[in-house]
Amino acid sequence: MAPEVPTTLPTVVITAEQCKGCELCIRECPKNCLSMSDKFNQLGYVYAKYDGEGCTGCGICFYACPEPGTITVYKK
Ligand code: SF4
Ligand code: SF4
Repeated sequence: MAPEVPTTLPTVVITAEQCKGCELCIRECPKNCLSMSDKFNQLGYVYAKYDGEGCTGCGICFYACPEPGTITVYKK
């Protein structure tokens, strides 16, 4: 099922269950608006999450992520 498109744009959605916790997206985000959760996903990885504000929709995290389909960037 396709994720619901957020209404507040730009924003980023990270599918926690596909994340491997490599932290590349966090390192590359120029706005420092991604961080690691304090929870584990079903694969046993601590996953990246959006802090809820600051995303410009630049897409750098999307290109940095080695797990296809884990990060979706929504622009205005
Ligand atoms: S789209 Fe850009 S600003 Fe938004 S979370 Fe990804 S890297 Fe950060
Ligand atoms: S780059 Fe992808 S796999 Fe790595 S922490 Fe970020 S969302 Fe997870």
